[in-house]
Amino acid sequence: MREYVCDLHIHTCLSPCASLDMSPRRIVAEAIRMGIDVIGITDHNSAENVAAVSQVADQVLTVLAGLEVTSREEVHILALYDDLEAALDLQVLVYENLPGKNDEDIFGIQPIVNADDEVEGFSERLLIGATTLPFEEIVENIRRGGGLAIAAHVDREAFGVIGQLGFVPPDVELDGLEVSKARTREEGLKEYSQDGRYAIIRSSDAHRPEDIGAVTTTFFLEAPVCVEIGMGLRNEAGRRVVA
Ligand SMILES: [Zn+2]
Ligand SMILES: [Zn+2]
Repeated sequence: MREYVCDLHIHTCLSPCASLDMSPRRIVAEAIRMGIDVIGITDHNSAENVAAVSQVADQVLTVLAGLEVTSREEVHILALYDDLEAALDLQVLVYENLPGKNDEDIFGIQPIVNADDEVEGFSERLLIGATTLPFEEIVENIRRGGGLAIAAHVDREAFGVIGQLGFVPPDVELDGLEVSKARTREEGLKEYSQDGRYAIIRSSDAHRPEDIGAVTTTFFLEAPVCVEIGMGLRNEAGRRVVA
């Protein structure tokens, strides 16, 4: 087993709020420069740029296929998978339940790009919007598909589960909670882990290249795959979160 430095919450240019500099090549280059082993690509309500990032990363860097899904209650949930197909399955459900059309003048453009950083098209969906799916249903779907379900930036008032719902629903089986870079890991554990009930991770939520790896979570694992990360989050069989 060894340590893996992970930044599991990174947006590409597809997210309307992210910099257009967040191209697959730039993201991979920055992640390598920052010494990161595993990145999660988590655009708002979409996984359409994951394939391009994975192609660029090839064998050098592990890319988890993800989405940052917005629930009906406006809670952000990270969904992370080993396989793109599983992420695209969730994307089908998300798209079926994501009303509205993007207004580029208000929210920004949503380019879908290839591994050469070329624009192949633009998503017309309202990716920044909320789905009509309840928080609990999204988490259940992620887990049923073999993914990790992590409540994003729980320390943030806006779009964090505690800010939106007032608490972490006790009957929902989350794999962990993420705190933003505004908190240290110790603060995150103290304030949000509920005496060890929830694992705490930190990730950059990068919307600009210079933010990639600003904060990371280091895991001690056998391999950089979701099942191992899940074991690390649950502190099982020697797998653990190191820092
Ligand atoms: Zn978010
Ligand atoms: Zn985000």
